[in-house]
Amino acid sequence: MSDTYEIYAIRYGHHDRKAHENFLFGDPHDDAQMPLDYFVWAIIGAGRTFVLDTGFGPDMEKKRGRRIVRPVADGLKAIGVDPATVGDVILSHMHYDHAGNIPLFPKARFHIQDAEMNFVTGRSMCHGVLRHSFEAEHVGHMVHRIFEDRVQFHDGPSELAHGLTLHKVGGHTKGLQVTRVRTRRGWVVLASDAAHLYANLERNHPFPIVVDVDDYLEAFNTIRALASSEAHIVPGHDPMVLQRYPLARGGLAGVVRLDAEPKG
Ligand SMILES: [Zn+2]
Ligand SMILES: [Zn+2]
Repeated sequence: MSDTYEIYAIRYGHHDRKAHENFLFGDPHDDAQMPLDYFVWAIIGAGRTFVLDTGFGPDMEKKRGRRIVRPVADGLKAIGVDPATVGDVILSHMHYDHAGNIPLFPKARFHIQDAEMNFVTGRSMCHGVLRHSFEAEHVGHMVHRIFEDRVQFHDGPSELAHGLTLHKVGGHTKGLQVTRVRTRRGWVVLASDAAHLYANLERNHPFPIVVDVDDYLEAFNTIRALASSEAHIVPGHDPMVLQRYPLARGGLAGVVRLDAEPKG
C-alpha cells in the first residue's frame, strides 16, 4: 500500500504523581503512584517528516516542577530529524507541554485548529483556571508565526497528506486535535491529550483538565472510530507506551516505534 508512515514516540519528560490526580473527581484515597511521561512524536514517510507537538524547555521544567529526561531537540536528532529543517509541525493543542519549543523549528509551517487559537487569544484566558496550563509566551510565538505566514489553520477534519489526517475533538481544550496516521499495521491514532493514559480510555474517565466533559467523552468514541483497533490508539502521557512498543534505532532509550505491532 502506498504512503504509509513510520511513527516515533520520543520521551522527553517525566512527572511523578498520585493516581487520583489523573482522573476527574478522583478519589484522594487512591494515592498509588501513577506517573506521567512527556512525549513528542515524529511521523516520517512519503519523503516528508511531520513533528507532532514541540514539548517544553528548561524554563517550564523550573516553573512547573516537571523533569526533562532528554531535551526535545536531542531526541529528534537521535532519530535523524533536525528541528532546524523540519517543514511541518502539528500542534495538538497549546498547553505548555505541547507548544513550548516553537522557536526550535524556524522553517516549519504550524498546523493548528481555529478553535484552539481562538481559545488561547480570547475571553477564556481571562479565567485563571482556564489559562493555568498555557503560557502567554508560547501563544505569542504562534501569533508571530501567523504574521510570518507560517501557520496553517484547520477547522475540523483535514488531510495533511495521503494517509495523514487531523481531527478536532475538543474536550480537554477547545481546539484539541488528534492525528491519524496510516502505517504498515493499519490506522494509528496519536491521541495526545484526548487520552493522557491508557486508563483514561479504558475506564472512559477523563483526565481532570477539561473544558467540556461531553466533548471529552465523545472524543473517546471518535478516536476509537478512527483507529483500526483499540491497540492502534496511543495515549499522550502514558509511561506504558515505552513498554508496549519496540525501541527504535539500535535500542535508543525512551524512543519507540508506534508503527510496529505492540507487544503482548
Ligand atoms: Zn493538555
Ligand atoms: Zn499534555
